[in-house]
Amino acid sequence: MNMLRALTAACLAASLAACTTTGGPATPQADAGEVGFQLIRNATIKLDYAGTTFLVDPMLAEKGRYPGFEGTLNSHLRNPLVDLPVSVADAMEADAVVITHTHLDHWDDVARQQLPKSIPIFVQNEEDAASVRKDGFTDVRVLDGDTVFNGTRLIRTGGQHGTDAHMAKLGALLGKVSGIVFVHPRHETVYVAGDTIWRPEVEAAVRRYRPDVVVLNTGYAVVPGIDGAIIMGKEDLARARQIAPDAVVIAVHMDAVNHAGQTREELREFIAGKNLDAARTRVPADGESYTF
Ligand SMILES: [Zn+2]
Repeated sequence: MNMLRALTAACLAASLAACTTTGGPATPQADAGEVGFQLIRNATIKLDYAGTTFLVDPMLAEKGRYPGFEGTLNSHLRNPLVDLPVSVADAMEADAVVITHTHLDHWDDVARQQLPKSIPIFVQNEEDAASVRKDGFTDVRVLDGDTVFNGTRLIRTGGQHGTDAHMAKLGALLGKVSGIVFVHPRHETVYVAGDTIWRPEVEAAVRRYRPDVVVLNTGYAVVPGIDGAIIMGKEDLARARQIAPDAVVIAVHMDAVNHAGQTREELREFIAGKNLDAARTRVPADGESYTF
């Protein structure tokens, strides 16, 4: 039994709560009945799910490759703010890719250039499919509500990339976004909400699918001059805790791109200050892994 499996067994024996298995670069290898989660960086995560490794929202560039997002908070900073915690090759080690939307911090030039052109890629709609196919990818599949891959159901969920005020001013730029629910009869259900603010669609997804694991993008990305943010923040994490008290909630999309209005450190302070269930409220470092 290797160390990861030993830790996993101990974690399962203890409870369903997330267990930290490694801060290192290894991709989690889940046994049957287990789910491996790894934060790569920003919203880029890997899920080992029912024998399949899904790479979600790959942004794989080295630190500073792109200019900051124009018109957003701290746009003078270059993206990504930090390097990957693993090699690009390790990050790309996956059986399939899921893209919640095609903004640069979820689907970047390096991913577009370096991922194998034949890897299955799941997208939210025909528009994104066309854009991905233009880069030469040959197996691009639109999530249609009834998508199954290697026995795992992939369910697209809705969201909105900002408040109504953001959408009124910047709707064309912010575009359509999605989340995704991973469902398998013998595995924990995982809901990745994507780049959305707290919305009825998010609550509906939680109530309908009753996920065991919820991944939220909580970097609170700010556009100066418009109140609120275009993704979730700490208050939304607290909301998720309330409506899914038994779920493990994992907060990502922080400390990696310029427009974030909230750091992981601030979020950790909030979690402690509010006495949120620490075992079920996780703020992983880049590269950190859990199994469920
Ligand atoms: Zn984003």
